[in-house]
Amino acid sequence: MKTKTCTKCHRTLDLSEFYTRKKADGSIYYYAHCKACKNQADLKNYHKKIEAQQTGERPKRRTNLRRRKTETLYEFKCRVIKDAWQRAAVRLAEKANQHEST
Ligand SMILES: [Zn+2]
Repeated sequence: MKTKTCTKCHRTLDLSEFYTRKKADGSIYYYAHCKACKNQADLKNYHKKIEAQQTGERPKRRTNLRRRKTETLYEFKCRVIKDAWQRAAVRLAEKANQHEST
């Protein structure tokens, strides 16, 4: 039985208590936090999101772009930057519209 120590609760648990992710080369990667800790963290994020929605506060947007298998790291970075600029431009346009209407 293989075990692993959770970096959050510091309990040493069976590997089945950890979520896994397959890496590109086919090997298995175990998360540093056990299932219980990860669930708790996910729940926390979920509540944070709900709270932000209720208070009208915009959750921080993170880029949800993923690197395509066919593109190089450089191409991917360019795409991320381009996307950020596009969003900034949209935001500026929204602001300008608001100023015009008021
Ligand atoms: Zn844990």
